[in-house]
Amino acid sequence: MKLTTKILIGLGLGAMTGLILNIFSPELFTVLDKFLFTPLGKIFINLISMLVVPIVLFSIILGTAGLGDPKKLGRIGFKTVSFFLTTTAIAISIGLALAYLIKPGLMGQFDTSGAEFKAEEAPPVSETFLNLIPANPFEALTTGNMLQVIVFALFIGIALTALGNKTRGILNLIEQGNEIMMYLVGLVMKFAPYGTFGLIATAIGSQGIDAIKAMGVYMIVVVLALVVHAFITYGSGVYFLGKKNPFWFFKQFSPAMGVAFSTSSSNATLPVSMETAQKNLRVPESVSSFVQPLGATINMDGTAIMQGVATVFIAQVYGADLTMTELLTVVLTAVLASIGTAGVPGVGLIMLAMVLQSVGLPVEGIGLILGIDRLLDMARTAVNITGDAACAVIVSESEKKHAVRPEKSKVKNVADNRSLEYSE
Ligand code: ASP
Repeated sequence: MKLTTKILIGLGLGAMTGLILNIFSPELFTVLDKFLFTPLGKIFINLISMLVVPIVLFSIILGTAGLGDPKKLGRIGFKTVSFFLTTTAIAISIGLALAYLIKPGLMGQFDTSGAEFKAEEAPPVSETFLNLIPANPFEALTTGNMLQVIVFALFIGIALTALGNKTRGILNLIEQGNEIMMYLVGLVMKFAPYGTFGLIATAIGSQGIDAIKAMGVYMIVVVLALVVHAFITYGSGVYFLGKKNPFWFFKQFSPAMGVAFSTSSSNATLPVSMETAQKNLRVPESVSSFVQPLGATINMDGTAIMQGVATVFIAQVYGADLTMTELLTVVLTAVLASIGTAGVPGVGLIMLAMVLQSVGLPVEGIGLILGIDRLLDMARTAVNITGDAACAVIVSESEKKHAVRPEKSKVKNVADNRSLEYSE
């Protein structure tokens, strides 16, 4: 049986188990959750998290070094970041539009008196940018500060390119380190179906059907916006710019989406999504290892969608009207928030505080959507990483015109091969 099938079965069984226990025997759920579901999920999350920091470090170094000359790095970097920013702005606009159309905040009674949310300070945007440069790269590595790790890796990659043969040894070492990590991804993924089962059972079993009922319309709007964005925005991007069949794209990338769905973490899914893009979507390693780690850290379209819908929802519940200027502010802040959101579970909600504050909406409103956010986090994370993969497909297609050598250049050294892929 294929791994994808197994993961999907894990998802389905986990959801069913969680739901049945939640309805018929919450007590049994508590016991099973403690001794079975949560441990299964935790083991899986830890297994993949274990690989994240070295993978981001190695792959960005190799990605940067593999791109060869700084011109190419600049070109790919520009395309990637432009794609990220544009799609995030589209994503949030879809969220806002659907929320205005369906008006989830006006459907049903929402008791705001009990809504409490202590706004954890969202870091100011300026700080995110200032902190890009790691004063201490080892601290960045141990604390897993992804943006800083990326910047450090970019520098090393640039240096390796500049020093060429002198540092060939280190480049080979990093190549081999990367091979080891990728091998481990394959190994760890064997546990994915069980981990997925545990994670989903916990999520569904602890949220319960009541929470889902109360927040039904809001959830539908978010999910609808996610689906529209994935199929229309990414679908047409993959079709027109990436010259690939969108159905093929989604089918091939589905194992990574399944893992994102169960872990709710772009970071944790990164090893899997890179492997899936390279193997199934045939994205060259040099592009994948640059675009995807960056995307997992700064590109969060699904999160932006939730923030758009949530802002309108909260405005509707509190009877506040948003002007056009305020809506534009929401789009801008959400795009920035998406860059600052770490790819771990639930951070999108904390960053929502920043978006709400930018237009003077009550942050306590987050309390209303807190209960079901865990479920929506799963769906939006799947969209977050799909955006990165779509970008990788599009960038690799657009780079083809710069390739001068045929793809199958028979160069023994992988590092050489990598830089030949798209040489000017
Ligand atoms: N869980 C999301 C991710 O990792 C971030 C968020 O929206 O909370 O992509």
